[in-house]
Amino acid sequence: MEHHIDKTRVARVERSGKTLEWDTPMYRLAVEQLDRTAERMDLDANIWERLRTPQRAYVVSFPFRRDDYQTVETVFGYRVQHLLTMGPTKGGIRFDEDVSLGEVTALAMWMSWKCALMNLPFGGAKGGVRIDPRGLTSGELQRITRRYTSEIIDVIGPDRDIPAPDLGTDEQVMAWIMDTYSQQKGHSVPGVVTGKPIEIGGSYGRKEATGRGVVTCAAEACRSSETSLEGASVVVQGYGEVGGTVARLMAELGAKVVAVSSIEGGVYNPKGLDPAALDRWLRDHPGLENYPDADSVSNQELLELPCDILVPAAIQNQITRENAAKLKCKLVVEGANGPTTTEADDILEDMGVLIVPDILSNAGGVTVSYFEWLQGLQQFFWSEEEVNRRLIDIMKAAYADIERVSQERGVTLRTAALMQGISRINEAKRRRGVFP
Ligand code: NAD
Repeated sequence: MEHHIDKTRVARVERSGKTLEWDTPMYRLAVEQLDRTAERMDLDANIWERLRTPQRAYVVSFPFRRDDYQTVETVFGYRVQHLLTMGPTKGGIRFDEDVSLGEVTALAMWMSWKCALMNLPFGGAKGGVRIDPRGLTSGELQRITRRYTSEIIDVIGPDRDIPAPDLGTDEQVMAWIMDTYSQQKGHSVPGVVTGKPIEIGGSYGRKEATGRGVVTCAAEACRSSETSLEGASVVVQGYGEVGGTVARLMAELGAKVVAVSSIEGGVYNPKGLDPAALDRWLRDHPGLENYPDADSVSNQELLELPCDILVPAAIQNQITRENAAKLKCKLVVEGANGPTTTEADDILEDMGVLIVPDILSNAGGVTVSYFEWLQGLQQFFWSEEEVNRRLIDIMKAAYADIERVSQERGVTLRTAALMQGISRINEAKRRRGVFP
């Protein structure tokens, strides 16, 4: 079929001046990345327009009772399924006070490109609850999780849409989702979520998988830019599931982790921080404040510290037009989703900073989620060594593939990764055709 780009066909609704329900800055970033890539790759205008909006978007509101039994709040929950062409949909659930339909939609779009790029048989989805999980008791967190699950129960399932952990959620939250779903179905359904605890069908290596993938990509990027990971200085924004693993694995490989942060702020020691000591500190303290032998830095200052490798592993929209030119790193390896805006991408490219884009570098999580889903379907479980070995092989192969496309097409790794993901979806959509 001949592809003719007719840009006037795309984005008619927006050009008419009407606002889309999910229109937020983060959604615009995701769409801008798609538009730039679509233009570069001569994407069929029909498919291009189709990919700009989610196929399904659910918004729910429900009551949440605090432990004191007096306060009942109304909270909002979301689940967006961006693309149903490739198989069941897949994507994390975040608990965060800034969650919105636009944020979840953008994240679902990135999941689509990511799964296609990694050749996983899933379309993209994402979910979230608009609440600050800090300070919630375990009982409160459990009630929120179970009620949210029952609100979206009709749209999730092992062959429909499979949630996983994201910002503010963890394996315990996944266990409650799995239990709530199973109670409703009348039998145990472990395949409804990934990122579960091992005891109920989780996979070895899932918890560390995203961080391990980030570190594998950092090592590949060092190799191709002829720098040594050993001895390299590393700054990590967000010392959570992803960032904490990155810091630990980087230290194991002989890199020097000079700064880390959490939402309240960070700590910096140019001689290097010991992740084991940080973990011990965080077991006894609510945050990094007053951590000994290190200077305090704000999250913004942290990004501008001199280092070889910067790993943003907290939230989106951190490297922007305002601060990109002040960065002093050689390499950005994105752990978080959407940490860099398109303007910042351009500035960093001009500065010669190599960016390993989120949809490639943080794809280790969904890759091992796929392993977990497979192991659950087959009731055949792999050893930790096997999971890690397969993950590292897949990440290296994906990196090499994207690096090749980037060199052949003369584009950045981000554009190459988007091109690869979007072109696979394009082919699948063309094969399936339009119903009816
Ligand atoms: P997490 O909740 O375990 O950790 C998040 C960390 O970021 C914490 O240290 C938190 O204090 C910090 N943080 C939160 N809000 C912040 C803010 N406004 N400013 C600075 N720091 C802040 O979450 P996670 O699972 O590690 O996810 C982190 C990022 O990685 C998210 O963007 C998520 O979408 C992405 N990601 C996660 C996975 C996964 O498997 N968990 C997979 C792919 C991508």
